[in-house]
Amino acid sequence: MSASIAPVAETVTCRGERFRLYLDADTIAARVQAIGRAIDAEYDGKRPILIGVLNGAFMFLSDLMRAISIDCEVDFLKLSSYGAEKVSSGTVTELKKIDADLGGRHIIVVEDIVDTGLSMQFITELMAELNPASVRTATLLHKKAATRPDLNLQLDYVGFEIDNLFVIGYGLDYGQLGRNLPAIYILDED
Ligand code: 5GP
Repeated sequence: MSASIAPVAETVTCRGERFRLYLDADTIAARVQAIGRAIDAEYDGKRPILIGVLNGAFMFLSDLMRAISIDCEVDFLKLSSYGAEKVSSGTVTELKKIDADLGGRHIIVVEDIVDTGLSMQFITELMAELNPASVRTATLLHKKAATRPDLNLQLDYVGFEIDNLFVIGYGLDYGQLGRNLPAIYILDED
């Protein structure tokens, strides 16, 4: 069987809207490897538990975990989502709880994107109530200009600071579509 490499689309249409390539798969992979190496160096002997935030973080989390070579564990939680909207509703609720006992554990919360920061703040407060040894955060993308400064969010591992526009791909959706794109695409406003 011969392998074929699919050409990377420069633009895609999702739910009738045009998106353009913003971060290609190689660029994402290199950054994920670098975050994995940083976690290796900082958590050796601590057996961190990565808490993936469903659904959007699943692809970043699976690549990040393969970039980590020290012992580590994984679990998931799920928050209410944007639905089919492109702007944050501003309210966050927990839909799936974590199964693991997190008391005394080193937690790394893994998000796809931090926008207003409300979700990440909600999750880190939730984690802190479970008496962990430490809580740190990893996000592939950060819309710095959209993040509420009053939240005083601490983002420990950030893949990319991005423009304040709606993005899809690599796990991120628009009304549940677009998650399977292998790269990150940004709304083309032109
Ligand atoms: P926040 O609570 O920081 O405003 O939003 C975090 C969540 O909103 C993310 O986990 C993600 O599900 C969703 N979100 C924020 N910005 C975007 C975006 O540009 N594209 C997509 N697909 N989801 C986003």
